Amino acid sequence: MRVSFLGLGAIGRPIAAHLARSHELTVWNRTARRAVEFAQAHGARVAQTPQMAAENAEVLLTCLPNSGEVRQILEGPEGILSGIGTGVLFLDCTSGEPAASVRIAAQLEAQGVDFADAPVSGGTNGAEAGTLTVMVGGSDATFERAKPILAQFAKRIEHMGPVGTGHAMKAINNALLAVGILAFGEGMVGLVKAGVQARKALDVLNTSSGRSFVSEVLVPDRVMTGAWPVTFRLALLAKDVDIACRFLEEQGIKSPLLHRASELLNEARARLGEGADYMEAIRLQEQDAGAEIRG
Ligand code: NDP
Repeated sequence: MRVSFLGLGAIGRPIAAHLARSHELTVWNRTARRAVEFAQAHGARVAQTPQMAAENAEVLLTCLPNSGEVRQILEGPEGILSGIGTGVLFLDCTSGEPAASVRIAAQLEAQGVDFADAPVSGGTNGAEAGTLTVMVGGSDATFERAKPILAQFAKRIEHMGPVGTGHAMKAINNALLAVGILAFGEGMVGLVKAGVQARKALDVLNTSSGRSFVSEVLVPDRVMTGAWPVTFRLALLAKDVDIACRFLEEQGIKSPLLHRASELLNEARARLGEGADYMEAIRLQEQDAGAEIRG
């Protein structure tokens, strides 16, 4: 199939690499150099504009920071809307805004395009291994059309409900992750400061009821080693928690815990900058406490 992929960031690149293996792939990226490098490595074509990426495509995938950026490349000059044809399948792998996706889907429906929000979970390792989880929001028919494409890079593909529910699911997932990271950091720096060995505390935690993906996978790989690789920007996690707060507000639900997590992450974002990794929130907690979780 003729597939176009727009947004070759940390997670977009490995997803697109899987698609290049079995489809005629065209790529577009805001920084063109990255698209050229990708095309050389994976045998794809480079489109000069989102419009050109949309022309002739049977399936279009986007993976940008948030829905605002998706709208920009959709509606902007030489945008997707100027090039997209009737009958195209449009899958947005961005972790975006549920309400924005409902508006985008309606706009595309008027052009005869099937849209689904299809955010992913599993990190850059999962993307490279082709084992991501995809949370799809869209009609039954669009979901069925999307499955074989998504299966190129995902192990689990779940239909969450109508358009927007994929994004809502993803935002809540990441909000829970954010709370887990912040709570782990707070508790653990306290234990270390009191003289408990970090390794011993982590081992006990991981055989006790406080364990989590954070303590079992993320902390041993990153915090305990003192390595802070950038695989998922903290700015993007803060954005996800903000989306979760807005989504819950729309449902009439108060979320004091998530609002506090949002404040803490946005403070960390201001201190660490846009390029920092999400796990560096713990590095700040260490700094503030004067204790390091290593061992
Ligand atoms: P990155 O910051 O690594 O990449 C962002 C991509 O969006 C780049 O291709 C960038 O282009 C492009 N971009 C940014 N702003 C604009 C704009 N205004 N117009 C057009 N293109 C733009 O992000 P990730 O790849 O990590 O994340 C992408 C999405 O996937 C996010 O919604 C994120 O929350 C989600 N996600 C990320 C995961 C991860 O582990 N990294 C895991 C699961 C979901 P350029 O190259 O020019 O900067």
